[in-house]
Order: sequence, then structure tokens, then C-alpha cells
Amino acid sequence: MTKQPTCRIAVLPGDGIGVEVIAEAEKVLRAVGERFGRQFLLERALVGGAAMDATGEPLPESTLALCRSSDAVLFGAVGNPKYDDPRAKVRPEQALLGLRKSLGLFANLRPVWVHPALADISPLRPELVRGVDLVVVRELTGGIYFGQPRVEGSERAVDTMAYTRAEVERIAHVAFRLARGRRRKVTSVDKANVLACSRLWRSVVEEVARDYPDVQLEHLLVDAATMHLIKRPRDFDVLLTGNMFGDILSDETSVLTGSMGMLPSASLGTSPSASLGGGRFGLYEPIHGSAPDIAGKGIANPLAAILSVAMLLRHSLAMEAEARAVEAAVAAVLDAGHRTPDIAAPGQPTVTTQQMGALVVEALGVGRA
Ligand code: NAD
Repeated sequence: MTKQPTCRIAVLPGDGIGVEVIAEAEKVLRAVGERFGRQFLLERALVGGAAMDATGEPLPESTLALCRSSDAVLFGAVGNPKYDDPRAKVRPEQALLGLRKSLGLFANLRPVWVHPALADISPLRPELVRGVDLVVVRELTGGIYFGQPRVEGSERAVDTMAYTRAEVERIAHVAFRLARGRRRKVTSVDKANVLACSRLWRSVVEEVARDYPDVQLEHLLVDAATMHLIKRPRDFDVLLTGNMFGDILSDETSVLTGSMGMLPSASLGTSPSASLGGGRFGLYEPIHGSAPDIAGKGIANPLAAILSVAMLLRHSLAMEAEARAVEAAVAAVLDAGHRTPDIAAPGQPTVTTQQMGALVVEALGVGRA
């Protein structure tokens, strides 16, 4: 049997339920390794409040160095009420911004998929959300969040917004390539009727679209997009947005599923991942935070973290079959009626975080070919 290359994965559990859900995600990764004969080297490092406790810094240099020498990063969540003073100079949450910036993570992918059995827990009517399957592709390192803020006394404040052709091109390519593996439709969101940046955005997206004649492109103004996402969420496949609009729209789409505990995300960088070719370095995390209200109780839903593992396999390690196996295992566990409390109907029996992880490992059929 040929020896498989070893994939190095930096594991940063962080704080609160981050630690609990990442423990289950690690079990799933090991099970994938066993079933598919893959070598994963999982190396842990401190981040967030846990790193501040140990070193005084939310993102120690040693953690960053580990991430830089890995193929991908699996991240839990950061945040601890004990460091919650908004005036504090150092906060756990700074770790995430530091990681994004230092690792050049420019493309944020947030898939939103509503499992048919969970349509009833959405705040929208089940018939509207049943079958929703979309991905928000958000530009993460440009736009107004990376402008030149200026405060002029107490009377005026200024933020600037800029996008370059190259920044729009690279995120548009991510969206179109992704659409090719899905339902071949990109909806680009902008405010081209008002903003110069949006007019550049729209014309560059149209140019990039010419390389993908098999993918349908539509444009939506951001104000209309917020409405259509609620009225007809099933019509969307890939939503391509700039930094600020994506920040807002990805939170809006995340409520369609009814629980934060179900939603994974990926933040992709510019460099290829080292070990296998075909993949791109990235950081993978559930979209939820450290949830201090339920931390330590063993009731957090680990499926967002486990589905983040599927994204890691797909985007950084180019292991599509393995990614699909994880997603199919999650679907099978939900089909069988297993629920953590956040996705359970009133009166429905529930499982713990660890039991949910074990059920996914079992559904992966470890040991079977
Ligand atoms: P949160 O996402 O931690 O929790 C919001 C609500 O959703 C809570 O009621 C929580 O119990 C529930 N929830 C979240 N994940 C769940 C899961 N997997 N299973 C079941 N229920 C789940 O957001 P918050 O309460 O606003 O923030 C708590 C801390 O997390 C803060 O310090 C915040 O800064 C931080 N935070 C970190 C990240 C990150 O690390 N990426 C993201 C958001 C918030």
C-alpha cells in the first residue's frame, strides 16, 4: 500500500464550548483517517482567553507559527466573560482578527443548509426554508472595515471604503468555482446605484463571469437582497458579497436554520496547502461563539464544528469523498432523530455533545470499506 502524505492540522479549541465541540470534531477527523487510510497530524495550540490565561496574549506567536506550518486550522471559539470589559486593551476576540490578517484569509464561506427534518425550528415558515441550500462568499480583508477611519473631534467621523480590481477578481473566482460544483448560479450583491466601489465590483464580477459561461450570474442591490433572502431563500445558490454587506447578510442567512449550532464556515487564504496539492490553506470554524451560558454542561451542538471538518477536507485537503462522507453521516444522524437540545422539538429526547459526536463517528461506518 502506498504511504499517504501526512496532513498537518492545527487545532485551536479556544474557550467555552469551543473546547467541547472541537473534541468531537477531532474524533470525526480521526475516524475519517481510519476509514479512508489518511494520515492526519492534529497539533493543538492555545488561543483566545485560554491563551491569555497562560501567556497574557490572545494569539501567542507559537500558535501563529503552528498555523503557518500547517495545511489547515480547525478553530473552536474565543470569548470568556472574565475578559469582557469592553475598555480592555487586550481581548480574546482579537485572536480571530489577528489570525485572519496574519494568514491572509480573504474569502469567507458560510454554507447554509436546512436539513428537512429541522425546517420546523426555523423562525420562518417551514415551507419557505425546506430545501434551502446556499453559500455566502464574503470578501474578508478589504472594503470599509480596512479603510482609514478618522474621528474629527466630537462632531464628525469618517470611514473610507476601497476595493481594487485584483481583490474583486480573486473573490469572484472563488464564488464561480464554488458554483460549478453546485447549482451553477452566482448572485452578486452590491450597491451599484450609489457606491463607486460597487460599480467597480459589478463590472469586474461581469468580466470574471465570462470565464464561467456555464454559471448563471445575477446582480442584486443589497437592500433588495435582504428582502429576497427572507421571501425566497431557496432560490439562492452562491451569494457573492463584499466585506460589510457579507457581514450583515451572513448573519441574516444564519437564522434561516434556527440554530447557530448547525452552521460551519471556512476562511480561505491565498496560498495553496502544503501536503496534497489542489487545496488552499484555510481556517475552519463553527459560526457560533464560546456560549458561556451553556459551557461545561455537555449540551452544545457539535455539528457546526463537525461540518467545519467536512469543509476543511474539501477546500484545504482536496478530499471531496471524505467531505461528503462526513456530511452524509451528519444527515444520517439527524434522519435517525438524534438531537442536541438546541435543535430538539419540545418534549423530544436529546443527546449530549459527546453522544452526538459518537453517533457521527458510528454513522461514518469506521472499519467498513
Ligand atoms: P454565542 O454564539 O456564543 O451564543 C449565542 C447563543 O447561541 C447562546 O444562547 C448559546 O448558548 C447558543 N449557542 C451557540 N452555539 C451553540 C451550540 N453549538 N449549541 C447549542 N447552542 C449554541 O454568542 P454570544 O453569546 O453572543 O457570545 C459569547 C462569547 O463568544 C462572547 O465572548 C463573544 O465575543 C464570543 N464570540 C466568539 C466568536 C468566535 O470565536 N468566532 C463568534 C461569536 C461570538
